[in-house]
Amino acid sequence: MMGWTPEVFNPVPRELGWPECRYYVPWLFANECHAACPYCMIGPEPTKYMPRQWSDVQAIRAWEQFYDDYGSAVLVFGGREPGHQLPLVGRILKHHYGTVVTNFTFDSQVLYRTCEPFRLILNPSFHARLWHKDIEPFLAKALDVRKHGYRVPVVSMACWPPDFPLIPGWKAEAERVGIGVNVHPLYNVEYQGRRLPDGYTDEERAQMAQWVGSCYDDRLGMAKERRIACAAGHAAGAVNADGRFVRCVQTLEPMGDFMGGEHVRFWDEPRPCDVEHCWCTNMNGYHIMEAV
Ligand code: SF4
Ligand code: SF4
Repeated sequence: MMGWTPEVFNPVPRELGWPECRYYVPWLFANECHAACPYCMIGPEPTKYMPRQWSDVQAIRAWEQFYDDYGSAVLVFGGREPGHQLPLVGRILKHHYGTVVTNFTFDSQVLYRTCEPFRLILNPSFHARLWHKDIEPFLAKALDVRKHGYRVPVVSMACWPPDFPLIPGWKAEAERVGIGVNVHPLYNVEYQGRRLPDGYTDEERAQMAQWVGSCYDDRLGMAKERRIACAAGHAAGAVNADGRFVRCVQTLEPMGDFMGGEHVRFWDEPRPCDVEHCWCTNMNGYHIMEAV
């Protein structure tokens, strides 16, 4: 993803193929998942993430108001598992465009009935236990979704130590059918008493070096960057799980009670951010870097 330049107000929607959208807004939308992955950052229990403090009706109204104020935006439907709320996703997509981060266990027929393909990009994660460690049915589903006109550019896989012997094979299979793979380290997760990512062994790190992208540093954190400001709040924002509009889900700087009906007012210009390590990977395009 390219970085921010003042000449181009918002490069991210254009990169995603929706240049008509002015704003980019990740939304911590889904508050539930029953997959119980052992490495889930929110814990292995099929538990609730945060109580939802807004209704579908409020969400539809709020996004219609956003459309009236600013036109279509690119949303990122995230949180826990949004794939089980596709009718609401499809309703919001009547006005907007979006990407969905999903464990891919939803019923494809519901997707085909509810969401227009040209408005949605799917970013599925391969959680091996949900597929009995067999990537074939997962990829078959991805190809069927593609056949129906949706974009599935990349699948994600987590660096969970017991899966290391299988990751190269899964990766090769996905690439063989033309799907990119993003293999990523795990954070704030424990494996056999080791807290990841610091707890990855040297041997595991050597293997991971073959898979993970160059945006991570030696300790598998996001590489430190020479950032002087960030355009989150100016060209992008986020909707938190509680329904508030915020600068981003890391700083949570408030920008209005979105689900309560307040209009969003974006800032006139980018502002500095004193967060040392930005974990909002999908906001990289809004970082303003020191000239070198
Ligand atoms: S699918 Fe995602 S949200 Fe659900 S348990 Fe697994 S890691 Fe957590
Ligand atoms: S935490 Fe990251 S996305 Fe949020 S304002 Fe700071 S630099 Fe931007």
